[in-house]
Amino acid sequence: MGEFDLIAKYFTRPAKRAALGVGDDCALLAPAPGMQLAISSDMLVEGRHFLSTVEPSRLGHKALAVNLSDLAACGARPLAFTLALSMPTADEPWLAGFSRGLLALADEHGCELIGGDTTRGPLNICITVFGEVPAGSALLRSGAKVGDDIWVSGTLGDARLALEAFRGTLSLPAPMLKQARMRMEHPTPRVALGQALRGVATAAIDVSDGLLGDLVHILLASRVGARIDADAASELVAARRMPSNAESGLALETFRTCALSGGDDYELAFTARPEARDAVEQASRASHTAVARIGVVEAVPGVRVVDAHGTPLAQRFTSFDHFG
Ligand code: ADP
Ligand code: MG
Repeated sequence: MGEFDLIAKYFTRPAKRAALGVGDDCALLAPAPGMQLAISSDMLVEGRHFLSTVEPSRLGHKALAVNLSDLAACGARPLAFTLALSMPTADEPWLAGFSRGLLALADEHGCELIGGDTTRGPLNICITVFGEVPAGSALLRSGAKVGDDIWVSGTLGDARLALEAFRGTLSLPAPMLKQARMRMEHPTPRVALGQALRGVATAAIDVSDGLLGDLVHILLASRVGARIDADAASELVAARRMPSNAESGLALETFRTCALSGGDDYELAFTARPEARDAVEQASRASHTAVARIGVVEAVPGVRVVDAHGTPLAQRFTSFDHFG
């Protein structure tokens, strides 16, 4: 199967939102009056970001999900995306699965595939997403203020638990592994929550490299520090709440580490004034996305990790750094 047949069969659909989609030299996309385009790219490299054993449809889902997560962190509504794909062979069962997972998530968010590039090479997937946000109302990293609450959506640390289980550094009872693996391979971008937080959150970021590491980006951009409750965060590990955790033998320390520096969560971490707690809960209900308060913004730079009693923890939690 040739390059153009492959594009036509797996990656071409009629454009609805874009003025022009796949098939010409450029796609054309017109932002609505009063809106700004929000644009973000993320690349997934085999062996680095995903295991070669992952099911193609889940990989298709995840490749778009991690990009939609960036739009969510800006409070933007997804519009369209491009796909640059390099792969060793035109493996049709792989392409069918990959495009199915990819386009199912695209449809769920009304985000259409408008172009890309296809070439032979090591398996590598690069997506660029385009979203829209009312001019001046994007959520940024730089707006956190001393006294703000620190919140996080959904669940934390499950993807890291699954990764460690695959690496063989810990073992999980089957139901916990299933849950954790789902979070690793099938993340849920918090797109509706991000939009609902416009005008409510003072700063936001999506958690891709680990909660603390990503939170530091907010703290540096906002020139503030934070105190984080490690126990409130470790409550958010979904696998930990399962009955089979009773026989997992996993220590609290493990759940704290996974929650605080796990990576691959694709949740939103955000700050908001304490007066806005009702508004945050309202945004949570409207978007059917759980949120939890896990800390507070302080004036002193750096992050202080404490337990549920407020006692400082000595352990260091470092996040994922591709060149670290
Ligand atoms: P050009 O040579 O002008 O860059 P290509 O021959 O690379 O164009 O691609 C032909 C058309 O197919 C273009 O509209 C391009 O955006 C689209 N396209 C190529 N690869 C993909 C892909 N993986 N997914 C979606 N569209 C693609
Ligand atoms: Mg090209």
